[in-house]
Amino acid sequence: MSKYEVVIGLETHIELLTQSKLFCGCSAKFGGPPNTNVCPVCLGHPGVMPALNRKAAEFTVIAGLALGCKIAPLSYMDRKHYFYPDLPKAFQTSQFHHPICVGGGVTLSDGRVMRLNHIHLEEDAGKLLHERGKTLVDYNRGGVPLMEIVGEPDLRSAADAAEYLEILQGIMRTVGVSDCRMQEGSMRCDVNISLRLPGAEYGIRAEIKNLNSFVSVRQAIEYETERQSDILDAGGEVKQETRGFDAGTGETYSRRGKENSDDYRYFPEPDIIPVRITPATIARLSAQIPELPRARAARYTESFGLSEKDAALLSKYRKVAEYFDAAVAESSTGNGKSAANLMLSQMFAKISTEAEREEWSPPISAGRFGELIALADSGKINGSAAKRVLNAMWDSGKSAAEVVSELGLDGPAVDVESLCGAAIAANPSAAADFKAGKSKALQAIIGYVMKASRGKAPADEVHSVLIRLLSE
Ligand code: ADP
Ligand code: ZN
Ligand code: MG
Repeated sequence: MSKYEVVIGLETHIELLTQSKLFCGCSAKFGGPPNTNVCPVCLGHPGVMPALNRKAAEFTVIAGLALGCKIAPLSYMDRKHYFYPDLPKAFQTSQFHHPICVGGGVTLSDGRVMRLNHIHLEEDAGKLLHERGKTLVDYNRGGVPLMEIVGEPDLRSAADAAEYLEILQGIMRTVGVSDCRMQEGSMRCDVNISLRLPGAEYGIRAEIKNLNSFVSVRQAIEYETERQSDILDAGGEVKQETRGFDAGTGETYSRRGKENSDDYRYFPEPDIIPVRITPATIARLSAQIPELPRARAARYTESFGLSEKDAALLSKYRKVAEYFDAAVAESSTGNGKSAANLMLSQMFAKISTEAEREEWSPPISAGRFGELIALADSGKINGSAAKRVLNAMWDSGKSAAEVVSELGLDGPAVDVESLCGAAIAANPSAAADFKAGKSKALQAIIGYVMKASRGKAPADEVHSVLIRLLSE
């Protein structure tokens, strides 16, 4: 354990899911052949007139409302100057003095609130591609609406940072303002990190720019913690600077001394009128915000007795949660527990990537899944049969009732006791092995019972009955 406390504040960039860019009509869609979604406005040609995308401002308000921010009735765009080939205008239109959202916070699972300083709206820059000793520029991303969520230095570990980002991602996806795909760059973050002795003033920080995966965020924080503690242990002083992260080595490296806001020569953007958000607009946008993941998860643990982990998994993706809610409503028994178990154990195994879960389009409709839940809850089929039925429904597109009758699961209930007795009689050597202490031998007898019952016997009961009979 290091004697230092780690202090972290994140600046998170989130691209908004608008059709068009922030100041022109070009498509804001990710990808596309380089430099095809461009026009004189987003290429920064002289004499052009930008106009603010209303949707982008509304999305920022929605994000702010979901994060408990105050919405400024009037906010303004500012010019932030820097010269770099990804920014043809040589200034980025951003917000500095009066951002759209102020304050707010992200609540971690242990209840700690990570305060936000503000959220501002700005345009994304182009993308530089370094190839064979040359640098190419793709301006498709230039001018795409970007929100910057600036957090206070309230995070205390890499785990805090990862959880904060994950919660942010869940909320932004749920309200629908961004897909927050770190792999596509629609969510990226800068990590500000410093160390201090517990109770001391904040130390001098380094800022690690442009991290684009959860793994990188974690590695960068771990590397910086080591690097800065070595410096402090040796009696040195951490330099305030901007650092890069090398995903290949997991190390950070110095890029440049940190610039101050003075260096950017911020001044009010004269070409864009102020952003005015009326109480009526706020009321209209608030009404569009659905139940957020945290509230949803709390409802799942309270109403269905789900574990916090399961509840969090189901409420993390909006479409997953809506599917779950719809299936439970359809099942008429309203039992969320079996629906949750089947979704998390079976469906999540088949739909396993982040992107697929976000899309969530299983071949079984929520209604049909609800019918299966109803069968399981009424005791017509047991838990392991429900899994088999689900898998058969998945592959065949048939309804639960059809599959149940095809598999012969709807016959009379199985007599577990006599099946187990017969299985022991039919497998004398396995029975002897088990009695001699080879607990693995039980598997063979369980397998026999399951086969004899054509999978209808409830596995848990078979297990306990066999153990009882074998120890008599
Ligand atoms: P700047 O004006 O240089 O951008 P800010 O005060 O706006 O600095 O802070 C930028 C980010 O750095 C914020 O996310 C904030 O939480 C974080 N931060 C500020 N001071 C520290 C510190 N001592 N250690 C870690 N993070 C910090
Ligand atoms: Zn354009
Ligand atoms: Mg700042």
